[in-house]
Amino acid sequence: MFSLTHGHLNLLSACPRKFQYLILEQLTTPISIDQQSALDWGQQFHLLIQQQELGLEPTLFSQEDNEFNQCMAALRKAAPELFSPVQDAPRTMELLRSSEHHRSLFFHGYLLTVVYDLLILYPHRAEIIDWKTTLHPREFPSLSKDWQTKLYLFVLAETQQILNPILTADHLRMTYWFVRPRHLSPSPDPHPQSVSIPYNRSLHEQTRRELTALCRQLTEWLNPSLPSMSYSTLPQVNVTSGLCSTCCFAIRCQRTAFSDTPVIPNLGETGSLNISDIPEVILDEGAIDR
Ligand code: SF4
Repeated sequence: MFSLTHGHLNLLSACPRKFQYLILEQLTTPISIDQQSALDWGQQFHLLIQQQELGLEPTLFSQEDNEFNQCMAALRKAAPELFSPVQDAPRTMELLRSSEHHRSLFFHGYLLTVVYDLLILYPHRAEIIDWKTTLHPREFPSLSKDWQTKLYLFVLAETQQILNPILTADHLRMTYWFVRPRHLSPSPDPHPQSVSIPYNRSLHEQTRRELTALCRQLTEWLNPSLPSMSYSTLPQVNVTSGLCSTCCFAIRCQRTAFSDTPVIPNLGETGSLNISDIPEVILDEGAIDR
């Protein structure tokens, strides 16, 4: 069964052809050293904060440990309620506190899959916490439209109906915490920042409609009995969207006329290609989102 994550849904919504390249054809794109460094730091941060949640001694990695400690201290100061001792009054109300919490929901032939960085359930409310180590924090309007927010809350509302029917969509909330190390941040003193997104039944039904439409559309595209719509021809996004101008598949899509990415030069008279003439591929920051 095809498993759909929020990353898949974001890709599908933005450009089905890009979904085809990255997910169905498993093509990979190069990333810069800075992006790899940010990705590595983000993965270490998630691992260390998970170890802390489990009460384990954090694994030390490198000279960046000190920076991790500084980030953790800043996060504790900004959100003391998330790190209070288990015997404190608010913590005693917790019914469930789980890091790297996986849930799946069968939906229109697909397995919708989420992994919550931290999920906390109380008797009459629930909160999803997501740690973000992207270079630039994002604002509420952008986050509320992101499929991570919509899918995470949708799956929690649906699965919670089975486990604890008292908790409805109106009792759910998702909070993003943006944590950035000083050496990767454009700001000299990056403080942790949070954005909380409430949920309700109306948003839940809106997400259900959008998900249903996307799943049905994907099924149609993947249907081998429709050769003209087989996955080798998932639609390209309209050129007026502006997405092709920063997409690393612009050449493959023959969208270079709309792209900021220069075209790889033709072979010269010698018939050989000078590697210094090959342009650097520009990637959007979404490639290192974690
Ligand atoms: S170049 Fe444009 S059409 Fe092609 S995958 Fe990228 S965004 Fe989609």
